[in-house]
Amino acid sequence: MHIARAYCVEAGKVVDIYQARALFFAQEEPRRRFQFLCSDDACRAANATRVTGVNYDKLVEDERDRVVVKPHFRMNPETPHNPGCEWVARDRRFETLECPDGIPPRHGEGRRFRRLKSSDLVDVFLPAQTATAAVPATSTRLAPPNGRDREATGLDGSNARNPRRLSNATRTDFLEAVVSAYELLEPEERREVMLRIGRGSRLSYSKTFCRIEHYFAVGGKRIFHGGVRVQAHGPNFAVRFFDHVVKAGSGSPLEVSLYLKRDALLTHWNGRFLLALLAEASKPGHYAHCYFYGRLVNHAKLDNRVVVEVDSLEHLAFTVRKRGVGSPG
Ligand SMILES: [Zn+2]
Repeated sequence: MHIARAYCVEAGKVVDIYQARALFFAQEEPRRRFQFLCSDDACRAANATRVTGVNYDKLVEDERDRVVVKPHFRMNPETPHNPGCEWVARDRRFETLECPDGIPPRHGEGRRFRRLKSSDLVDVFLPAQTATAAVPATSTRLAPPNGRDREATGLDGSNARNPRRLSNATRTDFLEAVVSAYELLEPEERREVMLRIGRGSRLSYSKTFCRIEHYFAVGGKRIFHGGVRVQAHGPNFAVRFFDHVVKAGSGSPLEVSLYLKRDALLTHWNGRFLLALLAEASKPGHYAHCYFYGRLVNHAKLDNRVVVEVDSLEHLAFTVRKRGVGSPG
């Protein structure tokens, strides 16, 4: 059964798995795992239904039998859900979609995937709208421009201002949820399953996700990605893509980088998790893959470099693995 949200007992509110992870990493060490109950009020009141949070406390991705296990909620077999629970109802809806008479109703809907439940698939990515059209060509403005995502991590209830919509799996404004689906799809599934970004047209996952080196060769809304080296610079982090890009008409390859400042990260609800993740990625024996929904802009000082710019930290995602453990994408 797919459970997209759960009630976090310590935080006293309903969270999705990424918010649970942000709250976990916002704690001082030693960090304590949380207790989760069903997000459905009636189900929770009737059964005190427990839900298990998986891998929300991990920085390096967990691999079992060569399959990466993404952070998620799952049912606790000891406490069954109410028949009227929102997740039971959702599961029933997806079951009826799944080949009612042997024929999948539409592409992506109701079909089965090798490593992903169809109810876990994301079909719409809704990037947060931002008011600023012109963006300065620097690598520093990574904090959201209008302050909508100010510090929102704390277990004292101060996180009530967190404006991010909760992911509901089929549509999300959080890039990492889309990345998780992409990484769990097999290459042939990525060519068949469609994804829409905002009001854009539907493209296959394999077309929507584009290697960074093709940045200047493709048009339209894409999610770019590639392997990166992460280096700590005092409290901040420099991220450099291994692959370079070439602008049309100019032959020289340009280095692609981004610079993440600790202070800017700390203003975001997910910032403490990102700081912990980047620190882990910068350790020897680790490698990281970076995904972004944004643009490349000229470096303020260096001619041979372009800089990744995103409107919100929600449009930036990293996966960190240990060396020798299969590459994503
Ligand atoms: Zn329930």
